[in-house]
Amino acid sequence: MNIQFWGGARTVTGSKHLLTSGKQRLLLECGLFQGHRAEAEHTNRNLPFKAREVNWGVISHAHIDHVGNIPNLVKYGFRGPLVMTQGTAALARLLVEDSAHIQESDIRYLNKKSRERGEPPKEPIYTVEDAEESLKYIEGVPYAKPRKLGPFKVVLHDAGHILGSALVDLEAEGKRVLFTGDLGRKKMPIINDPVQVVEADYLIMEGTYGNRQHGDYQDVDTRLAAVVNRVYGRGGRIVIPAFAVERSQEIVYTLNRLRQNSRIPDVQIYVDSPLASRVTEVYRNYPQYYDEEAVAMLNGHKFLFDFPGLHYVESVEESKALNQSHEPCIIISASGMCEAGRVLHHLKHSVGNPKNLVLIVSFQAENTLGRRIAERQPVVRIYGEEHALRAEVEVMDEFSAHADHDGLVQYVRGMDVARLKKVFIVHAELEAAEALVEPLKALGVREVVIPKLGEEHEL
Ligand SMILES: [Zn+2]
Repeated sequence: MNIQFWGGARTVTGSKHLLTSGKQRLLLECGLFQGHRAEAEHTNRNLPFKAREVNWGVISHAHIDHVGNIPNLVKYGFRGPLVMTQGTAALARLLVEDSAHIQESDIRYLNKKSRERGEPPKEPIYTVEDAEESLKYIEGVPYAKPRKLGPFKVVLHDAGHILGSALVDLEAEGKRVLFTGDLGRKKMPIINDPVQVVEADYLIMEGTYGNRQHGDYQDVDTRLAAVVNRVYGRGGRIVIPAFAVERSQEIVYTLNRLRQNSRIPDVQIYVDSPLASRVTEVYRNYPQYYDEEAVAMLNGHKFLFDFPGLHYVESVEESKALNQSHEPCIIISASGMCEAGRVLHHLKHSVGNPKNLVLIVSFQAENTLGRRIAERQPVVRIYGEEHALRAEVEVMDEFSAHADHDGLVQYVRGMDVARLKKVFIVHAELEAAEALVEPLKALGVREVVIPKLGEEHEL
């Protein structure tokens, strides 16, 4: 058996790892590559292997960098099942369709510009039709139930990262390979802790935060309550840019708990992202994935994602109306890095007023508006116009859904290290991956590899 790393190698985006046993191929993940436009377009359109020669796909979870390129996989000839948990299947359907709509509207805008310059029109990376076609190949499976795919036996375990996320425990040719997907953290809201798998010959581990430590989620109530009370007290509004999947639900869930415990006032809260609202519906429909606290809340006849004063905004008119009011409020809106979407309108109307606050609750990539706000740059550009950033900015990394440095090392410590022949670190910038090498060797891991794009290893 061998493995080839075709994405998420020395970078955090576009995950794709191809396992080959004899003439049969299993693709772990089919993520969309995100980055500069020309590079992203080229990488996503041109799969580095023959899609029709891939027999099966396994997807760890419903983030676009793990599942977002299945439309191209199917377009170029893949016909096998795409195996994932039922929760991931439900979320992936929403995400892939939403991504296709974005690709189409992006290209319409670009083609309008290129027509003005007399240039030929371009095609989207994939269309809504391509997306719908690819969704037919999705197969949802429960956790812990083996699924035989030719020579591969695959079992999915809870990765504790987002709803339905999985660790992929795979066996072939008498060898056991564990792929972490994105590894979650212990004691996070709503979902369960990651399952500790002990036995494996090879480990493919994510290393996104290999060189960082996060604040503890246990402290979130105190910090978030302080922020809400402070801004409410001065009559301001809070804008929270948040990803539609998991982060929006976690914020709502946490605000709900603060409200139930009377730690925050009766402030109006708006979730202004149609995708986040649809994703929340999936969260409501899959209580089998909840942790004890969430189940207890449900059993106490309390809704997790609904409470008085919380509104899910649908129409553009309602969204715009929020900026006509001067009442204190909390607006949770996408996109999470402030690159597109409704959050831009709210920021445009809010950043100039020192009574307001922008709450950053997730990772902000370089060259994004979210990053500039997180860095508290004095002037930020929104829709091509400069705005003075006078609002207060608060950064909370306690919500991170990824294991940090210690979390990753502890996960390996929980394994039978003597059995591990090799650990491959993927889904990490080089610096983050390198920070894990020595700590893993100190645990007794014999070999740690940080594969380059296209690198092949015999297992
Ligand atoms: Zn993820």
